[in-house]
Amino acid sequence: MLIKPNANILPDTGEPGFGIYLHWPFCAAKCPYCDFNSHVRHQPVDQQRFAEAFIKEIAYMRELSGPKTVTSIFVGGGTPSLMDPATIETVLDGVARSWHVPDGIEITMEANPSSVEADRFRGYRSAGVNRVSMGVQALNDKDLRFLGRLHNVEEALKAIGLARDIFPRMSFDLIYARPDQTIEAWEAELKQAISYAVDHLSLYQLTIEEGTAFYGLYKAGKLQTLDEERAADLYEATQEITAAQGMPAYEVSNHARPGAESRHNLTYWRYGDYAGIGPGAHGRLRHGAAKRATATERNPEAWLQRVEAERNGMVENELLGPEEQADELLLMGLRLREGVDLARWQHLSRRDPDPDREQALLDLGFIERLGNSRLRCTPKGMLVLDSVVADLAF
Ligand code: SF4
Repeated sequence: MLIKPNANILPDTGEPGFGIYLHWPFCAAKCPYCDFNSHVRHQPVDQQRFAEAFIKEIAYMRELSGPKTVTSIFVGGGTPSLMDPATIETVLDGVARSWHVPDGIEITMEANPSSVEADRFRGYRSAGVNRVSMGVQALNDKDLRFLGRLHNVEEALKAIGLARDIFPRMSFDLIYARPDQTIEAWEAELKQAISYAVDHLSLYQLTIEEGTAFYGLYKAGKLQTLDEERAADLYEATQEITAAQGMPAYEVSNHARPGAESRHNLTYWRYGDYAGIGPGAHGRLRHGAAKRATATERNPEAWLQRVEAERNGMVENELLGPEEQADELLLMGLRLREGVDLARWQHLSRRDPDPDREQALLDLGFIERLGNSRLRCTPKGMLVLDSVVADLAF
């Protein structure tokens, strides 16, 4: 084991950082709302073979990135808690062999309550994982069944308790704006969730994504979604309750006690660099004045074969110029409560924000300046974030 399971996670420095994203693409069942790169296999997965392929692709990405100091590692999926602790350890060791991994960086893995066992959790902890992000999604059994989840509330609470005991940091996800959900029911559920939370919660509105089972039902008129006004009311209630309970939003859907923000996700939103490894992983790696945008083959077995033959499973490898980078910086940064660093945006775009467009958004109350150095969305602007970004971008 090369990574020490340090309990004192290094604090955020405010810098974009350099993250490593590892994608484990397998799940026990496909949730009807999910458009992630997740696959169900009815035969056991050859974890050792996959781990060896991860090691190969890690080494390849290291050649692309050059030497770097890692500020966070995130094992996402899929369901990484289906990985054996030995698989996690092998892959994390591969990262530590390729880049400099200081003691105490944030190392997160995603877990599902249905695949949680105490021994496995202890094994992940010994391998270096110091933060777990759990897919709880709802705190009532009827909605868990509707969301196609394999766990019930009792199992979710047991898994939360175990994670709290074993890992220094823990977050869990909930999905709200479910069909027929009333504001009173969501407020009660959210307050209950906060009482179980440690320091971080991810609260997503249910969206119907193309290609999912819910999309088919929605198109056939068999699934009703909340109207925009009710969904906006639920969003506002979410902001008020979490802020009042000391876990305000630091990003559109993410809430934390001060200092407990996800270091890894901040790297995405601050437009730092990250290496994306595993089937269907995306990455951004600096390349001189350009940024390299990478994506790997999504199908797990096809990815495996490519990596075994060519040491990488990349299917996209594109250099982004200054304007594309400036747009991405805006797209990601405006999601954050801290907003966008204007000097960085001006450096990349080689221009100032268009004064007329900026003024129009200021007048509408959608954006605000933080001194001369930062621009951010107001809570009202967050509700129409895509249009704000489209107005300010190239
Ligand atoms: S467990 Fe997560 S990744 Fe897997 S299908 Fe469900 S939502 Fe998607």
